[in-house]
Amino acid sequence: MKKFSRFNFSPTIYLLVSVGFAFFSYILIQVVYSVENQKYINSKLLDLQDQIRQTFQIHFLSLLLWIGIIITISLLSRAAVTRYIKNENRLRSILNTAVDGIITIDEHGIIEDVNPAMERLFGYSPLELVGRNVNMLMPEYYYSRHDKYIQNYIKTGVAKIIGIGRESVGRRKDGSEFPIDLAVSEMRIENQRKFIGLVKDITVRKEIENELEKQLKWKVSLAEFNLAVDQSHEIRNMLERTMQVASIALPASAGACIALWNGKINDISICSSTFMEEHEQQALQRFIYSTKDVPRMISGCKPVIKSKISKPDQLLVGSFIKSYLGVPLCVENKVLGVLFAFEGKSRRYCQDDVEFLQSLANRAAISINRVNLHDDLQSSNALLAVQQGEMRALLDSTSEAIGLVSPEREFIALNKNFYEWFGIEPPVVGSLRFTSFIEQANLIFEKPGLFLSTISRSINDLTGQFEKMFIQVWPERRELKIFSTPVRTDDGHHLGRLFVFHDVTREQEASRAKSEFVSTVSHELRTPLTSIYGSLGLMNGGAAGELSEQAKTLVNIAYQNSERLIRLINDILDIEKIESGRMVFMNKPTLLNTVLTHSIEFTHTYAEQYGISFNLDNSYPQAMVYVDSDKLVQVMVNLLSNAAKYTIRNDIVEISISRQKQKMRVAVTDHGPGISRQFRQHIFQKFAQADMSNTKKKGGTGLGLSISKTIIEKMGGEIGYHSRINHGSTFYFLLPEWQPANDEEGN
Ligand code: ADP
Repeated sequence: MKKFSRFNFSPTIYLLVSVGFAFFSYILIQVVYSVENQKYINSKLLDLQDQIRQTFQIHFLSLLLWIGIIITISLLSRAAVTRYIKNENRLRSILNTAVDGIITIDEHGIIEDVNPAMERLFGYSPLELVGRNVNMLMPEYYYSRHDKYIQNYIKTGVAKIIGIGRESVGRRKDGSEFPIDLAVSEMRIENQRKFIGLVKDITVRKEIENELEKQLKWKVSLAEFNLAVDQSHEIRNMLERTMQVASIALPASAGACIALWNGKINDISICSSTFMEEHEQQALQRFIYSTKDVPRMISGCKPVIKSKISKPDQLLVGSFIKSYLGVPLCVENKVLGVLFAFEGKSRRYCQDDVEFLQSLANRAAISINRVNLHDDLQSSNALLAVQQGEMRALLDSTSEAIGLVSPEREFIALNKNFYEWFGIEPPVVGSLRFTSFIEQANLIFEKPGLFLSTISRSINDLTGQFEKMFIQVWPERRELKIFSTPVRTDDGHHLGRLFVFHDVTREQEASRAKSEFVSTVSHELRTPLTSIYGSLGLMNGGAAGELSEQAKTLVNIAYQNSERLIRLINDILDIEKIESGRMVFMNKPTLLNTVLTHSIEFTHTYAEQYGISFNLDNSYPQAMVYVDSDKLVQVMVNLLSNAAKYTIRNDIVEISISRQKQKMRVAVTDHGPGISRQFRQHIFQKFAQADMSNTKKKGGTGLGLSISKTIIEKMGGEIGYHSRINHGSTFYFLLPEWQPANDEEGN
């Protein structure tokens, strides 16, 4: 802009000019008045002196008036000029220092004046601008538009920019473009139309605005998206929503969402902001199937950025995609799918773009996971229902009543028999309350107290199993054998306790009938057998006269076999008594030594036939036990006769007594062949015999140890053995030692 010239007048000059002007005026008035006065003198002939005086007064006053006016005007003018100069100076400095550019153009768009800011904004010096068309300051695509604006305005007077202002684009000398805020106003100088433009660089403002707009868009899109995916229960729909939001907010010209199943592509959703031909969609699908970026994202769970796609990919995907961004749909380090945003031109994706797409992908992944879990849950629920049905059918088909009780004392499962046997109506909803059953138990069982305490104790027992008999009395009589065991899941979690009620009423009746039969038969057999045995003994002893050698042998065989039969019958009767609970124990304080010596005496003759002798080593001759002495003799005789039977000939069987804590231990040791490993677990079972040929030869029944075990246990003791093959066996029992004090306290 050309410099505005600085002009100023001194006050003296003002005064002189004013006085001169006043004087000139005075002379002029004087002359006019003189002419008028002369006419008047001539015509009227008035008194000259008065006239002169009057004239002088008038002239003098008017002169004073003029001078006053002139001085006032000149003073006012001076103040106005000073103000003008000041304003002008201020305006000039504003214009020169203004940050915004100011440009004046004529109606043909020719630049007439610019301020220094224009040089800063556009890079052109004022000399390069003045006289040239203002088009040079705008991008080419604005040229024609700008010319049209001015021409339109001149023709029609309709303002589109002038007096309004708008955002536009400026072009610098180096060709770069930048956003500007352009305010144009019109002025007329010397009857010529001029336009003055105020140019403001709004690059920073635009950037902030864009950023804010972008963020707002993201937020709105995300909010919409979150709502949509939260409400959606369908994965495909969710993928499509994700893609739509991504392509709007990113923005992307097309998007693809890939759902995976077991690491393989399961479903591809494609969406596009513009119309996509069928073949283009197919090309995109081919590209997705072939690109290594999908497996890369699956394995690395990381985004892939392609600002420019490779030549081979370009061939595959066609010309409509030039760059893309891909992010994995990850949840808990599991890749559920991949999200792609495609662009029709090469694009440098920034970190914000990646983060935005990733945040969408993460959100979608959570929802997809939720839907997957929901589906899994539904299918596992369905499976569970089937399994539960099968389980129920299985439970219902058993012949027992079954109940599974949780540690919190609630029934987890009950079968049909349970309800039927105990006369309980199954509830319409849910399962029977455990407490209801407990209340009912008072009515159901013969000994409800015993039943309830057994059940209650066992619920807290996490390991033990038991089997117990209970009598049910209502709604009908049953003999129930209850088996109970803790139940654990595969992973060891304690589920509860299972109670299986086995109805043994018939079995018990049959058993009782059998026992009675056995008992009757045994008793019936024992009496005649005893007399046969006695008679044969007498004959053997010569009471019936001298027998021939042949007859002696035959009588002896009959005598021994009748003895075996009596032993067998006695054993059978014992077992039957034990099983029916009819074995009576007459316990009393007993000197252990007496029991042992009697037992040895009873077995002595029997042992002699095998050349066996007994050696009793008793360091506790005064030791006493609280037992049924006959029963303990029976046990001892069995152990001694077994030792004699199954050891080597001429062996000495040792009988020892020791004290273990408060128990007396009696051991019978032989030096025979020992007990085979296979037989050890069966040795205390009924009719168990290791080697049939051998034992038959020795006349065993296989009942002796079983009876001994029961007897010892019934008397509060325990029985056991240890054995070494070819070295011998030791059978022992332990019984609580009886002290006189015990008698006072307990008996
Ligand atoms: P029995 O002796 O009448 O057959 P038991 O119940 O007393 O019946 O014994 C069961 C089996 O245990 C015997 O048949 C025998 O095989 C084995 N047995 C018992 N005691 C001994 C022992 N001291 N040495 C080796 N085997 C023995």
